[in-house]
Amino acid sequence: MKDAQPRTIYLKDYQEPDYWIDQTDLTFHLGEDHTDVTAVLQVRLNKSKQHEHLPNLVLDGTDMQLLSVSIDNQPIDSNQYTVTTENLSLPVSKEQFVVTINTRIKPQENTSLEGLYRSNDMFCTQCEAEGFRKITYYLDRPDVMAKFSTTIIADPKKYPVMLSNGNLVADEHLADGLRKVKWEDPFKKPCYLFALVAGDLACVDDEFITQSGRKVALKLFTEAANVDKCAHALLSLKRSMKWDEDVYGREYDLDIFMIVAVDHFNMGAMENKGLNIFNSSCVLAKPETATDGTYQRIEAIVAHEYFHNWSGNRVTCRDWFQLSLKEGFTVFRDAEFSADMNSRPVKRIEDANFLRTMQFPEDAGPTSHPVRPASYIEISNFYTLTVYEKGAEVVRMIHNIVGKEGFRKGSDLYFSRHDGQAVTTEDFVKAMEEANNVDLTQFRRWYTQSGTPVVQVSDNYDAANKRYTLTVKQKCPPTPGQVEKAPFHIPFAVGLIDSLGNDMPLDEQGNTTLVLDIKEAEQTFTFSNINEQPLPSLARDFSAPIKVEYPYTRDQLMFLMSHDNDGFNRWDAGQKLAVDIIKELVEHQRAGMTLTLDERLVTAYKSLLTSASLDKAMLAKMLALPSEDYIAEECDVIYPLSIHVARDFVRRTLAMKLHKQFKACYAANNIEKAYQPTADDIAERSLKNICLSYLTLADEQGIELSWQQYQQANNMTDRFSALSILENAVSVKARDYAEQALASFYQQWQHDVQMIEQWLSVQAGGEYTDLEKIHQLMQHEAFDMKNPNKVRALIGVFANRNKVHFHRDDGAGYAFLADQVLVLNRLNPQMASRLLTPITRWKRYDETRGALMKEQLQRIMKEKDLSKDVYEIVSKSLQ
Ligand SMILES: [Zn+2]
Repeated sequence: MKDAQPRTIYLKDYQEPDYWIDQTDLTFHLGEDHTDVTAVLQVRLNKSKQHEHLPNLVLDGTDMQLLSVSIDNQPIDSNQYTVTTENLSLPVSKEQFVVTINTRIKPQENTSLEGLYRSNDMFCTQCEAEGFRKITYYLDRPDVMAKFSTTIIADPKKYPVMLSNGNLVADEHLADGLRKVKWEDPFKKPCYLFALVAGDLACVDDEFITQSGRKVALKLFTEAANVDKCAHALLSLKRSMKWDEDVYGREYDLDIFMIVAVDHFNMGAMENKGLNIFNSSCVLAKPETATDGTYQRIEAIVAHEYFHNWSGNRVTCRDWFQLSLKEGFTVFRDAEFSADMNSRPVKRIEDANFLRTMQFPEDAGPTSHPVRPASYIEISNFYTLTVYEKGAEVVRMIHNIVGKEGFRKGSDLYFSRHDGQAVTTEDFVKAMEEANNVDLTQFRRWYTQSGTPVVQVSDNYDAANKRYTLTVKQKCPPTPGQVEKAPFHIPFAVGLIDSLGNDMPLDEQGNTTLVLDIKEAEQTFTFSNINEQPLPSLARDFSAPIKVEYPYTRDQLMFLMSHDNDGFNRWDAGQKLAVDIIKELVEHQRAGMTLTLDERLVTAYKSLLTSASLDKAMLAKMLALPSEDYIAEECDVIYPLSIHVARDFVRRTLAMKLHKQFKACYAANNIEKAYQPTADDIAERSLKNICLSYLTLADEQGIELSWQQYQQANNMTDRFSALSILENAVSVKARDYAEQALASFYQQWQHDVQMIEQWLSVQAGGEYTDLEKIHQLMQHEAFDMKNPNKVRALIGVFANRNKVHFHRDDGAGYAFLADQVLVLNRLNPQMASRLLTPITRWKRYDETRGALMKEQLQRIMKEKDLSKDVYEIVSKSLQ
């Protein structure tokens, strides 16, 4: 029986468990039809809780067959315990005892990709958040931390590689031809960090010497065909290990660190102790098949998972409401690492842009929740941008408040105080407070209040007294369950710019950027000795995850675009100018007027292209118009097709009017050289390719140039950019080239999993890919509904990026998405609920589209056997 209405779990109901588990010894017999698991658990009563009598031991477990159970070697008769679809409840007569549980599971049939499952011919696991309960009965909660040993027994011909957490302590061949290995992890851990891998895998070896001189063996396991795609991940791993020592003083603690690449994986990667499991798309790369974006993503994700060894594994979460304790902190850590390895301003622009485009809508939508949620139905639904990305911004704000050195003092205290413990975000903030003697009482609201604060700024210049005042009002719109919000503590970095474009000194030390502490609903800040009317540069470097409103004129934005000394705000001035212009064009388009482009945007772009003051990475960023998603986020009512038409008109007009400049810039950056994923080369390629995208809009010559680049490129970044440009270009010639390119691409790369994902996604997002084509691609041999990467590449990209066809007037795009969600609801509920996002925002769209989306949500809601994952998202969206 499933509950008709799944249960909501509340943070306020948190209690420690009745029992602890000190030692967990697991034995797996891996078989082709089923796997038998023996769990031997050393259990101890939690004496810090009051007990009138010994409570039953209630273990979590689902989707398995219980074969037998015993306590202290005494078999328990089945009439003495109770088993439901979610629990095993055992009578207890002692305070300390050993439970032995034998269960049978079917990894071959597990399409949810949680627990133990098969990916191609290998066994692998994913236990976070609650997958371990699909392996055996257990106290599946992160505050129960035990030492683990894992014994694996399997056919060595099929599974020559058998891995688990920790160190290998035994390896023997058994009389029946099977092999038995035993792994022991010396560190206590919650079961969500358990991992097992068995398969026929090749291994690429490396090593790292830690700061104290210990040698750590590094091993990357993958299918034999991919051994030439491991170098970048291993290099990134070594850089991460070194960086965590240099910046946080954190050294790796085991003698071996393993990464396994897996094709079927719901997430990007998983930080299991000593045995990270990666979605193969987030770890494998070589120049012929990986783009710059892939290289950078791999560097960031390898670092992220490695950094978890301290921020997540050594110090873990008490309960899942604290998820941002490990994720927000670790995303902040990996962002700083990437900034140190590449261009810092560009990394900041990318992160802030991503947050504004993707997390702000989440924070304003039906599933809006605080960084530390107060309740959930299915925790898998809370691996969100709010918990990860906004959580990282919250940590960044603490960093900015206490400074770099203060932050290090705080993190040192946090790690030393809580090593080996399961703790809360409160413990993290406390350590930061105590190490720095600051008061973060009001700041804590960032963890408990949802929604994006809006900061309205007005100013006044008093020429007679040379005094300039900024009046700042903050408000936060109501979000589900939170109508009224108390004021946030917002670190607000401000600069003032004079009429020549220079930063004015703001205090006696001559600082040109000051961080104002906004704490009230309304506050005024005064600057003295200001010699002329300044132009304010607000929330520099995106100093807080907020929206800033100030009535800049278009001329002022043009001025900031060429003069702001803050890289982020300089870029943002260009975004604001473009958004303002495109929003007006959206109105004109809807009113049936002829569109004309404000010449100022052309002038601004022209001066970008001819300016010597920008590096290539910044220039490439600044030449990109705001995305349709970002423009939509800035509109009161979203008309997706009008936005598409208006933005497209602006791109074409810029392409025509600045043809000469784009051509010169393309030529200057189209330099033949061997591929290297260095920051400079990446910047050069991104600049070249954005110029190419404009040139292709201008004339047939541009299309020929793209075709030429597609054929001649010596790396996947250039080739894929050209393919994507052709796939979205309008002329008959371009369609013909795109067809040829797609066919040859498939011909060449059909056996390369990562390439086929790219091949699917470039088509799914293509302007000329209609629903019929999507249906055809779903029938293609390259597609597999059981593989999350392919589902994301085809269905996910279609629903999120193909605005024209997904949002077609008759609602067929929405019905299509609902159909796929219903199929995945049975196969892989996590994927199903994530895929839903585009239609959950139905209230933001025009009435007709909103109603069509809502209709599909209601249709899903009527489905029998709706998973908790899908039920939670759909029911919240309909409220
Ligand atoms: Zn993480």
